Amino acid sequence: MGTIFDIKRFAVHDGPGIRTTVFLKGCPLACRWCHNPEGIAPAAATAPKTVRVGDKTFTESEAVGYEITSQNLMSELRKERIFMEESGGGVTFSGGEPLLQAAFLTETLALCKKESMHTAVDTSGFAAWEAMAATLPFTDLFLYDLKVMDDALHRRYTGVSNRLIQENLARLLNAGKRVRIRMPIVPDVTFTPENVAQTLAFLSALPAPVEGVDLLPYHSTAAHKYSRFRMANAFEKMKSLPKEALLAVKQQLESAGWATRIGG
Ligand code: SF4
Repeated sequence: MGTIFDIKRFAVHDGPGIRTTVFLKGCPLACRWCHNPEGIAPAAATAPKTVRVGDKTFTESEAVGYEITSQNLMSELRKERIFMEESGGGVTFSGGEPLLQAAFLTETLALCKKESMHTAVDTSGFAAWEAMAATLPFTDLFLYDLKVMDDALHRRYTGVSNRLIQENLARLLNAGKRVRIRMPIVPDVTFTPENVAQTLAFLSALPAPVEGVDLLPYHSTAAHKYSRFRMANAFEKMKSLPKEALLAVKQQLESAGWATRIGG
């Protein structure tokens, strides 16, 4: 049994082809720019939802997360099977941090592979290696976040050290797994000349090359979630980055030899 908070169908930015993305609840990080803050707490909960009918406003309670078995989740995933097959897509497990529910994740990945579905795990990398290692036989692709290279800054902006994340990435590559890096581009945090240069140096020093880098621009569209779920929004006044700035980072990474995309 696992706890999920969303299933996104027809996703085109979470790995190759058309995919169904499952969002598992719970994350050990607390990134200040998180676009899915409702996914950080591990347990299912409820949140007030305001509904307007004519000139009247009603507040109802809406579930944020629910429990599901791997078998029932598979029934959901099979619904888009034809689109996955025709497009070279598959299933992506995201979150939150999917490896926080390692047993449920591994069980569901194994069921997907039994039905020949392509699988991707979108991870912060902050997980016990044993939990990650258990998923390896059933995971075709890892979408792996690299945020801030300076450990003190990483702690400040995400709440945890980046050491385990960096070590696990090297282990994945040593195990011969396919990895794409996901780099959130957050003004003044990850998007600084120092951090981009340090990321490039880190990538070059890895034991094997990653397949490419996806730049994920910060956007303020999650602001409504912070107010709806009554969570403090540290980046309330943060503006999205102009396209030119993103293109400049893309160019810098490409000049260093890394296939780079804006978005997933
Ligand atoms: S790792 Fe992802 S899900 Fe977890 S807090 Fe950071 S941005 Fe949010």
